[in-house]
Amino acid sequence: MADRTFYNEILTEHNIRPEFKHDLPDADIVLEGVNPSCGDDIWLKLKLDGDTICDGAFVGDGCAISQASADIMLGMVIGKKKEEAIQMGEIFMKMIRGEATDEEIDNLEEASALRDIAHMPARVKCAVLGWRTLKEALDE
Ligand code: ZN
Repeated sequence: MADRTFYNEILTEHNIRPEFKHDLPDADIVLEGVNPSCGDDIWLKLKLDGDTICDGAFVGDGCAISQASADIMLGMVIGKKKEEAIQMGEIFMKMIRGEATDEEIDNLEEASALRDIAHMPARVKCAVLGWRTLKEALDE
């Protein structure tokens, strides 16, 4: 198991240099996700080509965990089919509940940096905000 410092570095890196935190003027889906308990407020923007998420971005404000989680999520789901993205989200939720297998967590790539959130109940809503908003956006 990689150490905590390594995971913190991933989260810090996504906060300092987010790759997907920008506007996406020609987005097909725009949905706001709010976590009032922390004050996290993001707008998720997705561009679809049939069933494939061909581009995505987010804007908004929030704590380091919510912002890093949304940025990591977009890096994972762009280029994927809608149902693959929803499935990744379900595995992410399982990890946050502490129910995912090691193999499932490995498949989450950088999102596995958030595995310790399972032991921090107050931060769970921050970590899942992006994924919850994504699921809502794709379910419509
Ligand atoms: Zn938060």
